[in-house]
Amino acid sequence: MSVTANSVWKNCLVFIQDNIQPQAFKTWFEPIKPVKLSENALSIQVPSKFFYEWLEEHYVKLLKVALTKELGETAKLVYIIRMENTYGNKEPFTEKIPSSNRGAMAAQEMDVPIKSKNPELRNPFVIPGIRNIKIESQLNPNYSFDNFLEGDSNRLARSAGMAVANKPGGTSFNPLLVFGGVGLGKTHLAHAIGVEIKDKYPERTVLYISAEKFTQQYIESVKKNTRNDFIHFYQLIDVLIIDDVQFLSGKSGTQDVFFHIFNHLHQNGKQVILTSDKAPVDMQDIEQRLLSRFKWGLSAELQSPDYETRISILKNKLYRDGVEIPEDIIEYVAKHIKTNIRELEGAIISLIAQSTLNKREVTIDLAQQVVEKFVKNTKREVSIDYIQKVVSDYFEMDVATLQSKTRKRHIVQARQLAMFFAKKFTKASLASIGSQIGKRDHATVLHACKTVDNLAETDKQFRKYIDDLTKKFS
Ligand code: ADP
Ligand code: MG
Repeated sequence: MSVTANSVWKNCLVFIQDNIQPQAFKTWFEPIKPVKLSENALSIQVPSKFFYEWLEEHYVKLLKVALTKELGETAKLVYIIRMENTYGNKEPFTEKIPSSNRGAMAAQEMDVPIKSKNPELRNPFVIPGIRNIKIESQLNPNYSFDNFLEGDSNRLARSAGMAVANKPGGTSFNPLLVFGGVGLGKTHLAHAIGVEIKDKYPERTVLYISAEKFTQQYIESVKKNTRNDFIHFYQLIDVLIIDDVQFLSGKSGTQDVFFHIFNHLHQNGKQVILTSDKAPVDMQDIEQRLLSRFKWGLSAELQSPDYETRISILKNKLYRDGVEIPEDIIEYVAKHIKTNIRELEGAIISLIAQSTLNKREVTIDLAQQVVEKFVKNTKREVSIDYIQKVVSDYFEMDVATLQSKTRKRHIVQARQLAMFFAKKFTKASLASIGSQIGKRDHATVLHACKTVDNLAETDKQFRKYIDDLTKKFS
């Protein structure tokens, strides 16, 4: 019996069906048509780009195993996207995409100065003992400038990022600090700059790392007595991107080591790119000498996108996913989700998924349901600043009064409540809460939390304050 696209796919399906839920099989595998088999490449036709991405994201491993069983190790999968029934477009159009075509970033080989070419120089990203220094950039190639849409809310940050990418280390934007609230594109922009630099200057070593991971690596290096290797490793980088530096707050050891790395890189004309959820002036528990370094270059804010930008982000996302939905629905989503691009995207993805899974048309009704669920389900991240604002408003005082040194009873109580809620709703340490709420120490915060607990039991009026305020936060 000769092997055909049909026969190969049929066998794959038998295997796949055994390994996933019936509903998922029906939704994601039944609609696929095998089209062609040439050499070891099987082409399958899928109904949309979204469909293709879903398969790649959720089933690529399964597909690979199934296909390897049939066609051997060199098996390849090619998707043919055939979009039918797209709005206002009678002719279906097709597009071919190889499986996992989003090439990972290649590892960067590194010329290590002779004197440090010894087995002691450990790369914190690889298992100890490996000598060859290969540095994965940790960049996500899907975050590019191309799909980072420009709007008034991000123009400065975006163009500064571009300038840095054109001339890493060679502009006055060093460091470039991008700051802004959650879901506004800091991580995306940080990657985009790195990806662009790798395109333009393949020989430069770029490294993206979250401040959290950097901290873990540092702690690890202290434990293993390889702190110097850790520092040396980072001093070899040409373009260092550290995401969410606010995470370093209160971590003096990591700040210290970063300070040295930063100075070395800066002095040697290397580029540093940082992101943070606040402007340097508002950062808490970061050493002054680091803060002043942060201000050497440019701090650029990412603000909440305006309506027009939200619309274009949504349209672009849909375009990239090969999905079309009516204009009024896009407008509906853009009108209702305002402050966070991640939520905006989440809502539209969930909308497409719902309509695909339930084979329902995307209607305003469905959009309403999804948006409502979405807005309800995404808990606002509460900041200590926000807590102080809410508590002050509730007691009709301003934040400065709440933070002041006064011992007037109602002000003390408001302050204690703010501390109590900060402990309850944020991950900040007692010390950090104290320093942000009127520069108190951790013992004061601890005392405040105990006092609030006690009063909650014994004082009815006070209990009501807690209940009222809790409602405002949830
Ligand atoms: P942050 O790091 O600030 O929390 P992210 O960079 O993770 O935010 O962005 C959240 C989501 O919004 C990502 O999926 C990102 O691709 C998208 N996004 C943010 N800004 C833009 C933009 N200007 N254009 C297109 N997509 C964007
Ligand atoms: Mg981020």
